[in-house]
Parts: sequence; structure tokens; C-alpha cells
Amino acid sequence: MRTTLLGFMFALLAACTTVEGTGRGQLNLFSPDQEAELGREAYEDELKGSKILPETDPKTIRVQAIGRRVEAAAKIRSPTMAQRMEWTWTVVDDPKSINAWMVPGGRGAVDTGMVDFVKSDDELAIVMGHEASHALARHGTERVSHGILLGVGVEVTGAATGSEAVGEGVSAAVELGLTLPHSREQESEADDLGLLIAAQAGYDPTQAIDLWRRMEARGEGTFEFLSTHPSEATRIERLQRLMPQALEVYQRAKLDAALPVSTSGEPRSQSHSDH
Ligand SMILES: [Zn+2]
Repeated sequence: MRTTLLGFMFALLAACTTVEGTGRGQLNLFSPDQEAELGREAYEDELKGSKILPETDPKTIRVQAIGRRVEAAAKIRSPTMAQRMEWTWTVVDDPKSINAWMVPGGRGAVDTGMVDFVKSDDELAIVMGHEASHALARHGTERVSHGILLGVGVEVTGAATGSEAVGEGVSAAVELGLTLPHSREQESEADDLGLLIAAQAGYDPTQAIDLWRRMEARGEGTFEFLSTHPSEATRIERLQRLMPQALEVYQRAKLDAALPVSTSGEPRSQSHSDH
């Protein structure tokens, strides 16, 4: 018993990591490989029964072009995780749903309702940057880890010590964790990281303010983050505090891109990184 407990304590220490791009400390019991596998399953489940637009559809082409720029920017701001992610974007034909998401490991989807709702590529990039940030910051498995440690899972030690088998108690916690809303702290982190990624990708970060206000006006349950997000005032205030830094990133990205202006959505210069 003593040995198990000691092993568990060490495993917990090993499970303390830092979110790349924000520096926040995080407890995560899953390896990036484990979480990519969980993400693939969650992605298949989520899309079951959904109507996917073909790759040739203009909406898919638009989303994927923005997705490539968001990916390139993420590889500058959060390189370790961004390099590991799959970076696929699917467009789901659901005009009534103003939503988007990305599972751990980097498979994302945008509903046509969201594509129609946004007023510009900049706004869509801010939404996609937000979603990608949940995956980059490993929010899904962080939430699952908390669930396990709070006693939802029984086979904590097996998972925590890195044994290959993720036990049944743990898989139940995983399923629950991946379908629960993100915490407020995670939403704020995704807002911040996502804004900087969109700016890095050459999209105007100032459009975030109007975007979130309009999203808010649509009411609860419209978008994944609305269920747990901070109050509008708090969110806008925080984004405005971050705006000078986001604008600096944006201006520099525009300068970098000024030589051959990107119209194809291809990744831009990755030759530098800022603070
Ligand atoms: Zn979110």
C-alpha cells in the first residue's frame, strides 16, 4: 500500500506540466500519445450521424485555408504541442448550430452555422484559434485528470504510473471528462492563447470584441464556451488588456507577410518567434 501511494505521489509530480504559450501549471495524467488516441475516438463519436461537407465545398475550402494559417501560427507560439497535432478541420452541414470544436490531438470541426455567423475571416480565425487552443493546452485530458483525482476513476494508480492499460473506471472518467464543458479558467486561457494565435496568423485581433459580444447576445448554449465562460464584462476586459500585445503580434505578422502577401492561405514566415 505504502509503495503504491509513494509511486502515485511520484506519478503526480511527473504529471505536473506547464501549458506552452501561457506558462500555467497543469496536472495531466495522460501522455500526448494517449490523448491523441482518445481524441480520435471522441472525434468519430462526435461526427456520427453528421452531414460533412465535401472537401470541394467553398465553406470547407475557406475553413481549411484559415486552418492552415492558424496551424502555422500555433507552431510558432506553442511549437511542442502544435507539432504533435494532426490539424484537420471538417465542416459539418448544420446551419442552426453556431459552434466549433477541436478534440485533443488536433481534429477540429466547424458547423456551417458558425461559418454563416462570422462577419469575416478574422472572426472565424479567432474562433478556430480558440478551439485549437483547447487542444494545444490539453484542456480535455486535464479535465479528465481532475475527474480521476477527485475519485471518479478507481484505477488511478494504473493510469498515473503510466501503465498502458487505461482501466475501465478511467475510461468512464475519460468519456465523461471529454463531454463536459470546459472550466472558466480553461475558457479564458483558450481566449487568450487563441487571440494571440489568430494575430500571429495575420488576422485582426480587435474583431474579437464584437465577435464575443454578438455571440453573447445569441444566448447560452449557442457555442461551446458560453456554458461556463466568464461574464461578458470580465471577458471583454481581459481581452482588452491583452489587445496591445495581440496588436503587436499582428502588426509584426503583417510586416513579415508584406513581401509576398499571402492570398492563398499558405503558412507565412516562421523564421522568428516573439517573447
Ligand atoms: Zn472554449
